[in-house]
Amino acid sequence: MKPEIRKDYIQEKYVIIAPKRGKRPHDTIKPKEHHKRLVSSCIFCPHNLMKIHSLYLKGAKKDWQINVIANKYPAVSLDNPKAYGQQEVVIETPDHTEELENLSTDHIADLLQAYSERTKAISKNQKIEYILIFKNDGGIAGASLQHAHSQIFATKFLPPHLLDKSQRQQAYKVKTGNCVYCEVVAKEAKGPRLVYKDEYVIAFTPYASMFNYEVWIMPLRHLDNITELNNNERKSWAKILKHILQKISQLDLPYNFYFHQVINDNDQHLYMKIVPRGSVWAGVEIGSGLIINPIPPEDAAEFYRQELK
Ligand SMILES: [Zn+2]
Ligand SMILES: [Zn+2]
Repeated sequence: MKPEIRKDYIQEKYVIIAPKRGKRPHDTIKPKEHHKRLVSSCIFCPHNLMKIHSLYLKGAKKDWQINVIANKYPAVSLDNPKAYGQQEVVIETPDHTEELENLSTDHIADLLQAYSERTKAISKNQKIEYILIFKNDGGIAGASLQHAHSQIFATKFLPPHLLDKSQRQQAYKVKTGNCVYCEVVAKEAKGPRLVYKDEYVIAFTPYASMFNYEVWIMPLRHLDNITELNNNERKSWAKILKHILQKISQLDLPYNFYFHQVINDNDQHLYMKIVPRGSVWAGVEIGSGLIINPIPPEDAAEFYRQELK
C-alpha cells in the first residue's frame, strides 16, 4: 500500500500510514522474555500490604486476588487545592511473577469490576470531573514496578483535548441524531480492521491508528462509563483483552491501555484503547505533531485475528 494521510473519527488528529518495506515486527516474533525476579521489598506483594489500608479488595484481606490502595506518591491529592484529585493503584494479582495476560478470564473480569467499583466510589465526590484508568506495562511505557498493576487517576481538571472531543461528539449528535462511536462500531464491524465481535463487545484497530498495533475494545451498547457494564459484557471484554495482550506479548512490546471517563458528561461511548509502544516518535512527530505509523491498521487487525478462539 502507498502512504496515506488519515484523520481520526472525530478529532482534528492526523496520521500518515506509511508501511515500511521489509520486515514488520510481527514477522520476527520471539517469545517474551520473562525475567521477573521475586523482590522481597516489593511494596505490592501481599506480605508488605498487611498493614496498608485497602480501598477495595477482591477476596479476604489475608487472601486477596485484587487489592486497590492509595498511591503513595500522588501528583494530585484531595488535600491539595492546586492539584486536586485522587490517585490509586490497582494490584492485579497477589503473585509477583504473574502477567495480566496470563490471569484467567474470570480474574480479568473481576479486575474490570474493581475498576467499576472504584469509579463509582470516586465519582461520589462532586468535584471530580475526570477519571482515567490506565496501565503502563514494560520499560519505556512508564512502568517503574514489575508487580502487575494498573492505576486510577481522578481530577477536577478535564484536559482541553478531551473537552474538545466531548464537544465535537455532542455537536455531531445534534447534527445527525447519532452517536459518532455507535456509527464507528457499526462500520468497523464489517470492515478489514475488525479483530473480534460477539453479542456484547467489539475489538478493532482504528482507521487512523496513531500507534502501531493500536487496538480498541468497545461495548456494542451505547454505555457512558465502565460502571454500566454488566457481567456478560465484562466476561467478553476480559476474553478479548486477554487475547490482545497475549498477542502484544508475542511482539515483545511494552504497552499502555486506558479507559477515560468524563464525569460531567454522561453521554459518552465507553472505549478502551490499547497502545503498544513500538513507535519511537522522532523529528516529524515532535516538530509537526503529525504522526507516522508504519503498520497499517488492516495488517495489525490481521495479526490480532491469529489464534483467536
Ligand atoms: Zn510484588
Ligand atoms: Zn454510542
